[in-house]
Amino acid sequence: MPEEKSNEVCDKCGAPMIIKTGRYGKFLACSAFPNCKNIKSLNGNGNNQNGHGEKSEEIKKMIEGAEAELWYLPPYNPDLNPIEKMWSKIKALMRKMKARTEKDLNRAISKSLKLVSADDSVGWFESCGYGLMLS
Ligand SMILES: [Zn+2]
Repeated sequence: MPEEKSNEVCDKCGAPMIIKTGRYGKFLACSAFPNCKNIKSLNGNGNNQNGHGEKSEEIKKMIEGAEAELWYLPPYNPDLNPIEKMWSKIKALMRKMKARTEKDLNRAISKSLKLVSADDSVGWFESCGYGLMLS
């Protein structure tokens, strides 16, 4: 993923924020990723545009007033989406199988999907910052 420097500092850990380009455009991401997964949206001027006016200020105050933490969603960040990690495994397995006919391809898809384990899924969710309390 291409990235460039910004003047913003991560409000969670103090590391510099970098501008990354995702599928849906540019966004700010903490340079301490994967230890810090903080992200913010950007507008065309490179300024933070988390707010959408008075209404979102109100909502922000309500969330923070309830002692909850406000997290902004990025435009899109594959690093934070466990399904991207699954597709990456499926693609790697399928490349190895070198299916060249439709029949082989269908078999390869089926075989690859069966090789995705519950442990894989837990690991992908955890690596994306979603804490799963399974035990
Ligand atoms: Zn950070």
